[in-house]
Amino acid sequence: MRFIFLISLFFIHLVNHAQDSLGHDFSEESAKRAVFNIVRYSGLPPNFVTRENTSIKTAIAFIQKDQRIIEYNPEFLSRISNKSETDWAAISILAHEIGHHLMGHTLNPRKYGPGDELECDRYSGFILAKMGATLDEALVAISIAGLEQASKTHPEKTARVQAITLGYKSAMSLDASPPLELLEDQFEYTHKIRFDGDPNTYYFTSNMTIVWLDEYAQAIEFGRVEIHPKSDYTFKFQFNEAWFHVDLASGIWSITNYGVFMKIGRCDAL
Ligand SMILES: [Zn+2]
Repeated sequence: MRFIFLISLFFIHLVNHAQDSLGHDFSEESAKRAVFNIVRYSGLPPNFVTRENTSIKTAIAFIQKDQRIIEYNPEFLSRISNKSETDWAAISILAHEIGHHLMGHTLNPRKYGPGDELECDRYSGFILAKMGATLDEALVAISIAGLEQASKTHPEKTARVQAITLGYKSAMSLDASPPLELLEDQFEYTHKIRFDGDPNTYYFTSNMTIVWLDEYAQAIEFGRVEIHPKSDYTFKFQFNEAWFHVDLASGIWSITNYGVFMKIGRCDAL
């Protein structure tokens, strides 16, 4: 009798073990803990509300009464974590949704464009790297759930894989890069240029080129600058086939084909 009892315990153990290896449901506790950790690694207070919603297909981010909400379909997250056999799949999906909040997309609800989706994919790659996932783990959700073909809102899988990889690598290179105070500017900037009606700032460099800075602080060099041959001007510069002239009072002038002078901005020495 005792023997039979032991045998049956053994079988119960086997059955339990088999269930373990099939994965587990992604519980509400897991979802809340995942969001809490993603936000923690972002250095932000945990002011997101995470909750289940069985009437949606996947996951969404939106603002309701000034609260930032992440809703997910528990079956979708469970299915994807069982299929991938890792919780990183669900975590990366939640990170993507948090990205919609952090990128400000939910402040102005509209149909998200492919660029918005790629921004959030990049963020999910970045934050998963910070949380200790491997690159394969950061990509596992997209490799299971990502659409092969681009849809109206979601870009094709290859682009999304690229965005996640870029985010992942930027987190890794951040860890490897020197402290911020040791970073030097990529160019020596000599003058600041502003054109009327253009919110961007451009710079003359000591290489006699023009530079614009993107939001990754990457200096993009274009055009060329020359000392002006006429004494009532300081510089002339060229880009997009057109020449512009800087006068002694720092005004930028364009001269039309008809010889008309138009003041179009300012060029100030730094
Ligand atoms: Zn999205």
